[in-house]
Amino acid sequence: MHEVGIMESAIDAVLHQARVHQAQRVHRIVLRIGTLAGVEPDALRFAFDVVTHGTVAAGAELAIESVPARARCAACAADFTITTGFIATCPRCGQLSGDLRSGRELELARIEMS
Ligand SMILES: [Zn+2]
Repeated sequence: MHEVGIMESAIDAVLHQARVHQAQRVHRIVLRIGTLAGVEPDALRFAFDVVTHGTVAAGAELAIESVPARARCAACAADFTITTGFIATCPRCGQLSGDLRSGRELELARIEMS
């Protein structure tokens, strides 16, 4: 389950921020996850509980913002949402496009602490 490794590095960054700001508690962490990032939100939540155990982030709320996958068509420049896979057919002109503009995000969006 690679979600544990992902969460370990996210929490490392969170704990580093907590130290820098001398925070006593981390209340909420917001992650932005692209729909094509290849991670399972449920597995991330499980990993979060394991990885934060015994840290200032224990018991914090984990919010996951899902970022839809969007591609731009090279032929007609239409932007469209991809629902499955990495290559999609442009809904306007029917060309195949793999020019992904979003959907692979895996980032720490916000940390709330005190
Ligand atoms: Zn097109």
